[in-house]
Amino acid sequence: MTTESAMTRKPTIPVDVGGVRIGGSAPIVVQSMTNTDTADVEGTARQTADLARAGSELVRITVDRDEAAKAVPHIRDRLAQMGVGVPLVGDFHYNGHTLLAENPACAEALHKWRINPGNVGFKAKRDQQFSAIIELALKHDKPVRIGVNWGSLDQELLTRLMDENAASPSPMDARRVMHEAIVQSALLSAARAEDLGMGADRIILSAKVSAVQDLISVYTLLAARCRYALHLGLTEAGMGSKGIVASTAGIGILLQQGIGDTIRVSLTPEPGGDRTQEVRVAQEILQTMGLRSFVPIVAACPGCGRTTSTVFQELASEIQSYVRARMPEWRGKYPGVESMNLAVMGCIVNGPGESKHADIGISLPGTGEAPVAPVFIDGKKAMTLRGVNIANEFKTIVEEYVARRYGTQEALRETVS
Ligand code: SF4
Repeated sequence: MTTESAMTRKPTIPVDVGGVRIGGSAPIVVQSMTNTDTADVEGTARQTADLARAGSELVRITVDRDEAAKAVPHIRDRLAQMGVGVPLVGDFHYNGHTLLAENPACAEALHKWRINPGNVGFKAKRDQQFSAIIELALKHDKPVRIGVNWGSLDQELLTRLMDENAASPSPMDARRVMHEAIVQSALLSAARAEDLGMGADRIILSAKVSAVQDLISVYTLLAARCRYALHLGLTEAGMGSKGIVASTAGIGILLQQGIGDTIRVSLTPEPGGDRTQEVRVAQEILQTMGLRSFVPIVAACPGCGRTTSTVFQELASEIQSYVRARMPEWRGKYPGVESMNLAVMGCIVNGPGESKHADIGISLPGTGEAPVAPVFIDGKKAMTLRGVNIANEFKTIVEEYVARRYGTQEALRETVS
C-alpha cells in the first residue's frame, strides 16, 4: 500500500543484502537485532528465528570476540535447519578487522557487515583498520553499513570541526557542529570505501542519535548530501512507551519526508520481555503511515462513559490476537489480506459509522442500548449478533470474508466445506 500524503522517497542507490533489496524503489525494510550472547549458538538462533517469524527482514547479531565469530556459521546452519533464511548482519566494533580476517567462515556466513567508523581504531590505525575491513568485504563480496553513532563519534573529527567553527567569523551552535561531525564521519568513511573499490550499491549509511530533534536534523543533512541507502533509527530509544513514542516521532517525520530505506526500532525490553516487540512496532509505524501492510489492522474506540462494559475491549484484543495468529497461514493462502481493516466499536455513537469504513466492523451495545451488535461488511449492515458467543461468531465471519475476498476458488471451497 502506498499513500499520497507521504512524500516521494528520495531516490537512493539500492543495495542487495542476501536477496533483500534496500533502497531505490524497494519497500522500506524492517530489521532488528538480537540481545543474546552470539557465542550461544542455540539461544541466538532461537531469538533470530523469533525475530524473523515476527517479520524482521534482516537480523543483526553482535560479533565481539573470537567465540562469537566462530559461532556465526553454526547459527546460520541452525537457522537453516529451522527453515529460517533471514539474512544475518554482523555488528563489529574495535576488533572487526581481526575477527573477520581470522574467521573467514564468519565473514562468509554474514550477508552484511556493520562498521562503526568511530570505533574502528584511533589515529593512523583507524584508516588502516577501516581499509582492512573494506578490503575483506570486497574479497567476500559483502555489502557494509557504515553506522555512525553519536555515543562513539570520531573525536578527532569532532575536535577539528569544533576548532574550525570557533575560528570562523560566524560560528555555528555547538549542536549544529556535532550534527555536521556525525554526517561528515559517515560521508568521509563512505568516500574512503569507494576509493578502495567498493561500489555505492554496496554501502548503506546510518547516523544514530538518541534525541528526536537531533535525529531529524542529522538525517535531513545526510539525505541532502548523498544517494546512499539510509538505515533509520533512534539509538537508545528507551523502554516501553517512551521508546515507542520517541522512535515513532523521529522515524515517522523522516519517512514522511521521503528519508529512510530500512528502519530499526531500538527498544529496551522489559526484564524478561519479548524482543520481538521492536519488530511489531517497526511494522506498525510503516503500516499506520500507509507505507506497507503486514497484518490486518483492528481499529477500536477508546471507550468512554457510554460503555461501562469491557466486552468491546476484550473483543478488540481477542480479534487483534486472532488475526496475528492466523497471519502465517493467511499470508500464504490469501494474498493482500494484510491490508484488510477491521473495527471493533463500543457503542452506537461512532460504532456504525466507523464500522462502515472498515472492511468488517462490529458495533457493540453501549450502556442502555439494545443488547445487539450489528456487523457491517464492505460498508453495509450484513447481520446482527447477540448473546454470549459474539466473539466466536465474529471470528467465523472474518474467516469467511478473508477466504471470499482474498482466496482462490479452491481456498474458498476448503473454508465453506
Ligand atoms: S464509540 Fe461510543 S463507547 Fe466508543 S468512544 Fe465513541 S462514544 Fe465512547
